[in-house]
Amino acid sequence: MVSSKMDQIGQTQLSEIRIPSDVLEVDPEGHLRIDGHRASDLVAQFGSPLYVTVESTLRQNCHSILAAFNAHWPAGVEVFYAIKTNNTLAIRHILSQEQIGGECFGLNEYRATLENGVPGDRIILNGSDKSRDEIALALSHGSVINIDHEDEIAVIAGLSSAAHPARVNLRIKLHSEAFDQFDSAFFKSADKISDALAASKWGASLPEALRLVQLILAEPRLKLIGLSSHVGRFSNLPEAAAVGAAELAKVAIALQAETGFWPEVLDLGGGWPRQREPESRQSAMNPHAIGDYAAAVAQALTQALGGRPLPKLWLEPGRYLVGNAVLLLGRVGAVRKDLGRVWTHMDASTNHLMRIETSRSWYHVLPADRMHAPYEATTDIVGPTCIPSLLAGGRPMPDLKRGDVVAFLDAGMYAEVISNQFNGMPRPANVLVAAGRADLIRRRETYADIFGTHLVPDHIDVTATKP
Ligand SMILES: *Cc1c(COP(=O)(O)O)cnc(C)c1O
Repeated sequence: MVSSKMDQIGQTQLSEIRIPSDVLEVDPEGHLRIDGHRASDLVAQFGSPLYVTVESTLRQNCHSILAAFNAHWPAGVEVFYAIKTNNTLAIRHILSQEQIGGECFGLNEYRATLENGVPGDRIILNGSDKSRDEIALALSHGSVINIDHEDEIAVIAGLSSAAHPARVNLRIKLHSEAFDQFDSAFFKSADKISDALAASKWGASLPEALRLVQLILAEPRLKLIGLSSHVGRFSNLPEAAAVGAAELAKVAIALQAETGFWPEVLDLGGGWPRQREPESRQSAMNPHAIGDYAAAVAQALTQALGGRPLPKLWLEPGRYLVGNAVLLLGRVGAVRKDLGRVWTHMDASTNHLMRIETSRSWYHVLPADRMHAPYEATTDIVGPTCIPSLLAGGRPMPDLKRGDVVAFLDAGMYAEVISNQFNGMPRPANVLVAAGRADLIRRRETYADIFGTHLVPDHIDVTATKP
């Protein structure tokens, strides 16, 4: 098989793709170790496939993002974890210990955040069409609502008092040709980024924002504290993040000119890129670290704000905090050789890394039991489901054998939360590792977890014994 450039990069040793918060090593026998634990020992103990969550990586990512922004932004930074990225409750507890607030959509994400260590006043409720119930719950615990529709204003007012006004931000739709200097390949919906952002359902464009700010300011039961925006990761260039921040500052200035309102808070949302990103759809590493984004954003904001009082920055990272803190381990099954090709089956499938199917994500794969073996040939690493389930196509690998453990890096973001039971396959367990210990944090699903919610009415029940 012809090796593409991507294949050759795929052969790189762990040392070339390791990022600072990883605790991955190879032992003298050629086995991958995750914070000291052999990957194959974890699979032997907890079964396969298996998600492995790395406590020290999570904690390190919290420190890194806080340190990076605090170093560049004198007015203060608060970090709110977007729990949609990975809602494992043990992860939420670790982030709570690290003083990370919460960002949520909907009642259940709100409850999972509130009930797992986040004070109500450190939670942000987002949503393009929030229910009255979720707004009421969030307000009863003093959380901040990022208003995304005019209807919310009356609901919030009705649940609040002028003595204790509800703290709110207004979500802004950034709509600027300044984004069009960047590659729009990430967006499926439009050729120009500004068109794709205009078409997105969230937030208020400047004229609409002006109307909403005036309505909010006229309502004494609401206290407008700031503006929010979440464009998301469409590029890994620090300049792209800087443009987003500067555009939000320009909206703030335009609103101030008409209303006098000046934000205490600019909530810049999530999307902060990592140095190894499956979502880049390529094997190449991102050369930029979080400090580069913090520096670029701080510089662009300072310039755009032109001497006005600096607002506090709020960040809502998801992928940055958890992306590389979870690995997916699986075992090799049948190896099929035919027509000059090799298919290496795993017990893991794209059910467990759905972004491969939905977003063409590209994951680094390590032969966890043969880390010293030479790469023999390319293989298609596939899951056992009835779709191709191509976890990794044309990947250079050592000669993998049935029973070998293989590790997929960066399974922390948008993997478990959108994993599914296609083909009736139970979702894997998750184990938390730290130096010297490994604890189950989510048990493997069973037949009953898949079918236990189904009901068969009596009149069609073919298993009932007839009288
Ligand atoms: C998804 C989302 C985030 C987190 O995004 P990441 O790309 O995972 O950092 C933050 N805020 C809002 C409003 C979101 O929708």
